[in-house]
Amino acid sequence: MTDTFRAIRVSKGEAGPKADFVNLTEADLMEGDVTVAVDYSTVNYKDGLALTGKAPIIRSFPLIPGIDFSGKVEKSSHAGFKPGDRVVLNGYGVGEGHNGGYAQKARVKGDWLVKLPDAISNERAMAIGTAGYTSMLCVLALEKNGVTPDKGDVLVTGAAGGVGSVAIALLSKLGYRVIASTGRASEADYLKSLGASDIIDRNELSAPGKPIGKERWAGAVDAVGSHTLANVLAMTKYGGAVAACGLAQGMDLPASVAPFILRGVTLAGIDSVMAPMEKRVEAYKRLATDLDMKKLDAMSFRAKLDDVPKLAEEIIAGHVRGRAIVDVN
Ligand code: NDP
Repeated sequence: MTDTFRAIRVSKGEAGPKADFVNLTEADLMEGDVTVAVDYSTVNYKDGLALTGKAPIIRSFPLIPGIDFSGKVEKSSHAGFKPGDRVVLNGYGVGEGHNGGYAQKARVKGDWLVKLPDAISNERAMAIGTAGYTSMLCVLALEKNGVTPDKGDVLVTGAAGGVGSVAIALLSKLGYRVIASTGRASEADYLKSLGASDIIDRNELSAPGKPIGKERWAGAVDAVGSHTLANVLAMTKYGGAVAACGLAQGMDLPASVAPFILRGVTLAGIDSVMAPMEKRVEAYKRLATDLDMKKLDAMSFRAKLDDVPKLAEEIIAGHVRGRAIVDVN
């Protein structure tokens, strides 16, 4: 690679963020003790919000967006990393306040990096991406709260999206019976191929509902929030748990305390951005063993850096199926 490298950089335009393809040098990067030759990034919902300006994700301009990347360490003054190490970065404000993954090079804090297990290639690390790593955090939370396969079905909302697709694959491999809630009936075969047993229409869950309803699932992974999460809670079985990670329908939660005080339901909040390192390492260890890589390949598609602005629009419109692997080189 020459001294310059290619990147997407977002500046503050009159009508919102403006993304340009630029050639940069290392002098344009921010502080950090590890320089990474980036191989792949991806497009998460949050990247879509950042690039389209639908939410004020980017806090410092100009900035290279991209909340995650995988690559190889090029230079390091951090004791934990040496040149050639294969690494992944999710969150920690990368692509929000610190330059992110839509570039051929990144300089970050070594404390933010996870070494990839042998079973996960750099390419598959971005097929997983922050969405898939978040799905694993959700599954870990369900386990921690006692939701085992014998307790009953597990619901996944936003099923055809990134978090949802990986969650279905993980849960089905772990022996859970999975119900997938989607607005895209056309994706039923895809969701079944990932391991869903039942498909429900998301309209069943998205309107204002009753404070408490029929007990339908022992647990849920919710990527949608708002009325959907309220209804999911209302229909969770006695002693069940719901891992809430997303807001695709909305950030509000028009719910009642009835599921908590009448059924002992647990609402587990999931944050991937500042999750502590031991949780990240555990999540990648489990992804290496519990994610069917053939299913991961079936839910992912390849894209180039040039495709990112279009994919950002599409993910916000809810038109992206599964996971994009963005080859930045
Ligand atoms: P995707 O866009 O890939 O998936 C979201 C899915 O939600 C869509 O595919 C769609 O599924 C469904 N959906 C979209 N709009 C609506 C709506 N109005 N009402 C109901 N369902 C809707 O995004 P990701 O999978 O990358 O992310 C999912 C959510 O999780 C996002 O809100 C994201 O911000 C959040 N997230 C949070 C993280 C954390 O740390 N807590 C980390 C990663 C993501 P379908 O077509 O099947 O109905």
